[in-house]
Amino acid sequence: MENCLFCKIVAGDIPSNKVYEDESVLAFLDIAPQAPVHILIVPKQHIESAQTLTPQSDPLLCHIFETARNLAKEYGIDQTGYRIITNVGQQGGQSVKHLHFHLIGGRTLKWEN
Ligand code: 5GP
Ligand code: ZN
Repeated sequence: MENCLFCKIVAGDIPSNKVYEDESVLAFLDIAPQAPVHILIVPKQHIESAQTLTPQSDPLLCHIFETARNLAKEYGIDQTGYRIITNVGQQGGQSVKHLHFHLIGGRTLKWEN
């Protein structure tokens, strides 16, 4: 989608520090990390948010969570624990309107709202 930051990152028009890529997902380091591990996992396909998912998205979602588990292991946070967060809409704090999952860990996380 035009003028979508993460579509541009997926297309390679904007550089990113990629940590995983396959035919349907891309994972890259967040530019403003909130913890020692802060990875963004995005579908390559433009989906606005978790609110616009459909039952047809189920395999993609399973694959995103599989990617998160694998990355958690690779980055050594699978045993210590981590968070997977997806913000939705304005009050949810979603600043980029392309579905993305934050994989955050490497320190004890607080609940901030
Ligand atoms: P949101 O606030 O929408 O849940 O998350 C968007 C995330 O994208 C933020 O954590 C922000 O730091 C990250 N971000 C914004 N612009 C860029 C960018 O150009 N490159 C990378 N790697 N991350 C970005
Ligand atoms: Zn997009």
